[in-house]
Amino acid sequence: MINQDLKALIHRLPSFSRTRFAPSPTGFLHLGHVTSALFVWLIAKVKDAEIVLRIEDHDQSRVRPHFTAQIIEDLNFLNLLPDHGNNLAKSSYIQSRHPERYHDALFPLQTYFCECSRKTIEGRIGSPSKATEIAYDGFCRHRGLTSGALRLFWDPEPIKFWDYRLGEFTHNPKQQCGDLLLREKNQNYTYQFSVVVDDFMENIDFIIRGADLLESTGRQLRLHEMMGNAAYPKVFHHPLVYAESGAKLSKRDLSESIQDWARKGLTSEQIVGKAAYLSGLWLREEPLSFEDLLHEYKSL
Ligand SMILES: [Zn+2]
Repeated sequence: MINQDLKALIHRLPSFSRTRFAPSPTGFLHLGHVTSALFVWLIAKVKDAEIVLRIEDHDQSRVRPHFTAQIIEDLNFLNLLPDHGNNLAKSSYIQSRHPERYHDALFPLQTYFCECSRKTIEGRIGSPSKATEIAYDGFCRHRGLTSGALRLFWDPEPIKFWDYRLGEFTHNPKQQCGDLLLREKNQNYTYQFSVVVDDFMENIDFIIRGADLLESTGRQLRLHEMMGNAAYPKVFHHPLVYAESGAKLSKRDLSESIQDWARKGLTSEQIVGKAAYLSGLWLREEPLSFEDLLHEYKSL
């Protein structure tokens, strides 16, 4: 049973040419990833846009190569085939395969070195009350250090953007996180920086991602602007679980991988059906192929 509200919303979206699904190979895909993938594939297919599968392995200390192969296998099992990045041996959409891209992207940006640890920052400004994020206080801005982590001089102006499901937002990255960390002391580029560089370089013009990432959208779009991408991507944050259906992702749903489900004998249709129900794209839990889901969403 199709969700007519989401169907109408998807049909109203502006046209675009390319979006991406960008998992980190730090674990196996679970149902949470599949609900996100369903939004990416469905919206792209309804809008006749391309899908890039990007492997976000910028943090080499946490990634394991066998996860990458399994991610591709799981998506293929679910019949979620990307237009780019499906061939592990040949894919250029793997962050660790083009480290020079991030180095080159630093040039238009005004940056400075910082030697503060989280502990020293908290020593100056106190610990955050509930959020894990602390706003860097700019301590090293004018110290003229020649090594350490690399931070960006933020533009202090707030940024307004439009989310195609949730409406208008105004973020002030300078207040939220302080001067953005682009590269860690150990030379690893940060998630926030590498994702923006890739979205820009890979011509991604529409981003579909979970509402849990909304807090960081303003800073990513501001970074696009500062790197010279005036036409930064449009954004759509999908619901994590669909409140009206009463469906909730349980701890068990999230702890079992797609492989675990498959090994227990669940079919691709049973897993897609479960994810479609949890995401609110389908209002009843029943086996469903991605093709059937797409057929219902694409029809006028
Ligand atoms: Zn510092």
